[in-house]
Amino acid sequence: MIDRQHSQQFLKPQPVNSHGQSIRRQLLTYLFVSIFVLLLVFSIGVIWLTQKGASELIVSNAQETTRVLAQQSTLALLTESVENAESALQQVRSFPDVVGAGLVTGQGEILDWKGDEQGRQYFSQVDWSKVSEEMLTSESEDFWHIASQVVLTGNADDEGELDLYEATEQYLGFAIISFSKQSLNDINQDLFITISIAGLVAIFGLPLIVSIVLRRLLTPLQSLSEVMYHNHRTGEHKVADVQGSTEVNMMAESFNSMMKTLDDQDEKLRSHRDQLEAEVNIRTQELVVARDAALTSNRYKSEFLANVTHELRSPIQSIIGYVELVKEEAENEGLYDILADLERVTRNAERLFNLINSILDLSKIEAGRMDVKLKTFHLQEVLTELEEVTAPLAPQNNNSFSLQVLCGNPELHLDPQKVLQILINLVSNACKFTQDGEIVVRVFVENNDIYFEVRDNGIGIPERQLERIFQKFQQVDGSDTRKFGGTGLGLAISQQFCELMKGHLQVTSSEGIGSCFTLKLPMK
Ligand code: ADP
Repeated sequence: MIDRQHSQQFLKPQPVNSHGQSIRRQLLTYLFVSIFVLLLVFSIGVIWLTQKGASELIVSNAQETTRVLAQQSTLALLTESVENAESALQQVRSFPDVVGAGLVTGQGEILDWKGDEQGRQYFSQVDWSKVSEEMLTSESEDFWHIASQVVLTGNADDEGELDLYEATEQYLGFAIISFSKQSLNDINQDLFITISIAGLVAIFGLPLIVSIVLRRLLTPLQSLSEVMYHNHRTGEHKVADVQGSTEVNMMAESFNSMMKTLDDQDEKLRSHRDQLEAEVNIRTQELVVARDAALTSNRYKSEFLANVTHELRSPIQSIIGYVELVKEEAENEGLYDILADLERVTRNAERLFNLINSILDLSKIEAGRMDVKLKTFHLQEVLTELEEVTAPLAPQNNNSFSLQVLCGNPELHLDPQKVLQILINLVSNACKFTQDGEIVVRVFVENNDIYFEVRDNGIGIPERQLERIFQKFQQVDGSDTRKFGGTGLGLAISQQFCELMKGHLQVTSSEGIGSCFTLKLPMK
């Protein structure tokens, strides 16, 4: 019967590892990381560039303012009078980022300073005699400090009048201003806040938008993959109802047609299987009937043989008996010429008797009626009887016979009659198929088994026949013109006896060299 489950398993795909991240999740992760990195690089770049640009602009403005103050302070420094610079200083101080402004004389002393004290302190530490540049710009954490040289262009005569046509430059001192970095810091702060807000919006907003778009794009694909996975797990052939992009639709269509093909094939397989099952059932029924008939006829045959052989034995036994009587009377009457004929009758009657006995044994074995009569006895009892029975056989073909017992006289628990019958058969075969040779029976014990080895140096058996000789009615030479007599039943019965006693009979032989039959039996 064909296994239904087996055929289903055949169609069912084996499970694979379904763990792993979805496309959507992976894309979102990559996007999130990319945006984050890009934004970081972009923010750092923008802040750096903006700060640089703003700072350069503010410094340039501050320098310009200082330069203007320097131009307006010429008179004040020339006369070293603070009042002349008062309005210019007040004007400069009004600029939002200017935290202090003042003037330094040609001798390096601060003529006037208005505003934050930190500025005054910074400028008072400057060694003005060493400052050669027209414009000095330096910065601290919170301020830029800028100094612009005040130069008088033209030539002053003895009364102090300027001769503007003969231009010379006279160094008068420096106009100094401290500028706060507050506006730059404000710009930076605003920039940082703006970029942070833009960044946050980009980090969370963009993935959100992409996620929504991806969800719309991937939902049909997901449905398709769910159906595929379901089929894969259950072995069903469910089709996918998916509406999505062209590519996904094409995939779904291909998948559905594949499922349909599989369904059709499944159906065909199922009907094949059912058909086969039905046929197997019919054949099994037929075989059962045939087997029963064969068993019955075999039993009838065995019973018939057992009855017939039993009926045949009695008349043959009386023929043998009567012939013996006739032989005695012929001897007494001196009728020697018919004695040889009577001898031939006895021999043939005995052969017939042996054949009937063999057939009786065989039919009993086949009918399962052959009993094993287990008994405890000593080895020597069987060997003595064997020697008695086989003694006249060896000389017939001018053979020598020897018995080698290598295990003393152990106690055996077997059927002695059957052991004897097997040994007689093996020895008589050896005598029959050996001419002018020697027959050796070796007995030994190994691992609680007793071994009887019957060896001869007779005609031997061809290798291809070795299996056959244990079958019923099989002889190496089965032709009508065969040289040796026999029924071909001896070895078949011996092997059956052997198996009944849980033993084993085997042969090794070489054609023209000799044969060795080994009988192995458990001692108990
Ligand atoms: P058979 O009555 O013919 O001897 P067996 O069953 O005893 O029947 O033997 C079957 C055949 O096996 C024999 O006919 C013979 O060809 C072969 N055979 C058995 N024993 C020997 C042996 N010792 N040497 C050669 N051939 C043997």
